[in-house]
Amino acid sequence: METWLITGGLGFIGSHFIRHLLGQNSDLRVINLDKITYAANRENLSDLAEHPHYEFHQGDIADPKDVRPLIGRVDLIVNFAAETHVDRSIGDPASFIQTDMLGVHVLLEAARESSIRRFVQVSTDEVYGEAGQKPSTEEDPFMPKSPYAASKAGGDRLAFAYFATYGTPVVITRCSNNYGSFQYPEKMIPLFITNAMEDKPLPVYGDGLNSRDWIHVEDHCRALELLAQAPGIEGETFNIGTGEERTILEMARAILKTLEKPEDLIQSVTDRPGHVRRHAVAAKKIERELGWSPKVTLKEGLPKTIRWYVENPGWWRRIRDGEFRAYYQRMYANR
Ligand code: NAD
Repeated sequence: METWLITGGLGFIGSHFIRHLLGQNSDLRVINLDKITYAANRENLSDLAEHPHYEFHQGDIADPKDVRPLIGRVDLIVNFAAETHVDRSIGDPASFIQTDMLGVHVLLEAARESSIRRFVQVSTDEVYGEAGQKPSTEEDPFMPKSPYAASKAGGDRLAFAYFATYGTPVVITRCSNNYGSFQYPEKMIPLFITNAMEDKPLPVYGDGLNSRDWIHVEDHCRALELLAQAPGIEGETFNIGTGEERTILEMARAILKTLEKPEDLIQSVTDRPGHVRRHAVAAKKIERELGWSPKVTLKEGLPKTIRWYVENPGWWRRIRDGEFRAYYQRMYANR
């Protein structure tokens, strides 16, 4: 039986991935290493707390003392652990560099001295910066525009360098914008849903015409499992995305329509510095080489996601009553 180390597994995508893995594989053990930052939530995996193949360790990927004792026990690593919110990276770049670059280095060093069969570095399409006229391909240059994107770019290239230099069996993934249940409500979709439910304004940066490629988190998890298992792809990078591009304004309107709330809840606020106008990825490589394609359309996935927040007010209210409240004040009070 293999044991996989999943880092950041109490966050949004990591918790979905662990539930996906243990749901699909009866012969797999999962160790979850998570620092428990503000973004972590034990409730995300409360249904698995007693699962015989699930083990949790609180620890920091940037601290070798937390990482080394686990590495000898695992066959594979999927590194989700990261500081992830672009807006927070503008106010506090240091914590992003610490986890998203130095943390990746600590994990790679530990992996180099071990006999793991694969190291999946969960990077992001943010590393490309502006998509411009056409969706970004895996060969496009990096032009990250936020401290978050630049830190992830550092982790991404460091992972590749460990493959090229030491033969560490690294695979790198660059996914577009995820949405789904259990997403911390600082992120746009759950922020807009929960604000709308409380009849609060939906803060749209600038003209709201910035666009993103939207992917349901379950489609991302299926892609990641394939990339963890597929033979012979060490050293390679794969974009993951759907081609379902929508502007922020379109998403805000769709959310309000589903919740039957008025459009005048949309409020234009000062734009984010360095705000990327268009993120879009070409996911042709993973489609062609591994036969992956997205299954959840936005038309189906967005209402399903909205329904989850409607049916789980306890989950997001506990967050909004905690650390989130001061963050929201800082971000939006005078904008
Ligand atoms: P999240 O913010 O919801 O969760 C991050 C988790 O990592 C939290 O549980 C946190 O406690 C943990 N963590 C943070 N620093 C840590 C450290 N030093 N050591 C151990 N654990 C630590 O993030 P998410 O949205 O689930 O994103 C997961 C990964 O996917 C990230 O690497 C992110 O860059 C990448 N990604 C996210 C998206 C997206 O749309 N959310 C898109 C592409 C890539």
